[in-house]
Amino acid sequence: MEVEKPPRARGVFCNRTLNMRSIKAIGYDMDYTLVDYHVEQWERRAYERARDKLGELGWPVQGLEYDPEAIIRGLVIDVELGNLVKANRFGFVKKAVHGTRELDYDQMRTAYMRTMVDLAQPRWVFINTLFSLSEACLYMQLVDLLDARKLPPGVGYRDLYLQVRGTIDAMHVEGDLKAEIIADPERFVKLDPELPLALLDQRNAGKKLLLITNSEWSYTVAMMTWTFDRYLGGDTWRDLFDVIVVGARKPEFFTTRSPLFEIVTDEGLLKPVIGDLEPCKAYFGGSATQIEKHLGISGDEILYVGDHMFGDVHVTKNVLRWRTGLVLRELEQEIGAIERFQATEHDIATRMIEKEALENELAHARVGLQRMKAGYGPKPRASDRALFERIAQLRARLSVLDQEIAPIAKQASELCNRQWGLLTRAGNDKSHLARQVERYADIYTSRVSNFLFATPFVYLRSPRGSLPHDPSTPSGPPLAAARGEAVE
Ligand code: IMP
Ligand code: MG
Repeated sequence: MEVEKPPRARGVFCNRTLNMRSIKAIGYDMDYTLVDYHVEQWERRAYERARDKLGELGWPVQGLEYDPEAIIRGLVIDVELGNLVKANRFGFVKKAVHGTRELDYDQMRTAYMRTMVDLAQPRWVFINTLFSLSEACLYMQLVDLLDARKLPPGVGYRDLYLQVRGTIDAMHVEGDLKAEIIADPERFVKLDPELPLALLDQRNAGKKLLLITNSEWSYTVAMMTWTFDRYLGGDTWRDLFDVIVVGARKPEFFTTRSPLFEIVTDEGLLKPVIGDLEPCKAYFGGSATQIEKHLGISGDEILYVGDHMFGDVHVTKNVLRWRTGLVLRELEQEIGAIERFQATEHDIATRMIEKEALENELAHARVGLQRMKAGYGPKPRASDRALFERIAQLRARLSVLDQEIAPIAKQASELCNRQWGLLTRAGNDKSHLARQVERYADIYTSRVSNFLFATPFVYLRSPRGSLPHDPSTPSGPPLAAARGEAVE
């Protein structure tokens, strides 16, 4: 049998080995997991509504516009300084903006030389989901207004963040934006014809399917109906799932016990649940432990798939030890960009190998000269004049190499986003986001329909983790140095 091989960008990538055959239930988040949105449309409307609310308070926000390029997932807001930063896997800041102005190397060094990003501290706000792009964009633009003393006196960077957070939060809850989306789903929702078949495969392979979303009932019905029913030949999205929970209040859903309600009418009327869940019903609230009890399974028999780094993946892994899958929509674009850049990346690597060898020779020539001058150590084979000449030659070649590398390295740092570069990279290292993915997501993929290629029977094996001392690892000075990005 010929097996269709998906493009690499549609792969299911594995951090921790996962045998799908041993998974008895798969829980899905809805927004940006099963239901995909046109990010720019959604976020622009969220931004505009929040901006206009602040305008009603008398803030001078006229003229501010959503900038879809300004923010990417995985950046971190520093609410103490009014900055937005990109950090590497260790938490070292590699790029920063204050308001909408990029900090140069010295400014960044002054601000973060002794400070590492630590997401456990309230100072740092991680951009966990695509829903946060509008919030961060608005905040950074308002920092500019704050600096220009155009906001009410006494407002600091932290207060400003809390104000923006509160405004965006209220806007999600109030429902006007959701009503706009329900009224025109075609404009906001991206359809994926392969998605229903992927879930049908899982269901027919004997997996229990769960929908656990923070969205409210009416919005869930509208989005799921729009996304699935057209492909199900008379069945509905509800037939796909064994358990449906809306208004789940994740991450609390995974950590605490909350009352569970049954949804008894199409309008979403609630009735408290006493006892166990029943088939074919939809629920509101509750908690993960109730779901485990109802299904009679727990821990590593359940895979939960979501797009929110903290709310869907981090907490689920830490508290319940469920297996976790992260949906990273941006991955397809990211992998595409990396693939197109491969030949150029190879050019950099070749030059870096030469550069490293020359640097090594230069270091030895210098130490030879030093010994000669101070009169210690073994007698050098070359004369001091020959050493001087060789040092000058090496320096000249290194300078040429640096000039060749710098523009290519700059291109590499601008892949996918001119200001922030790739989601998963920071300089030559993994980004903070990549580290979070590694720690908390057993698997990650660009969209749920990628399970179609993987099948419900796949054995996903993690790659053997590489270490700097492995013989196969090409060693070489980090490209970040060539890019002038290092703060460490
Ligand atoms: P889920 O991803 O399916 O769990 O649903 C996400 C839901 O949370 C959507 O209905 C969003 O509108 C909502 N949401 C996203 N950000 C916020 C927020 O900041 N406050 C309140 N609700 C939010
Ligand atoms: Mg979601």
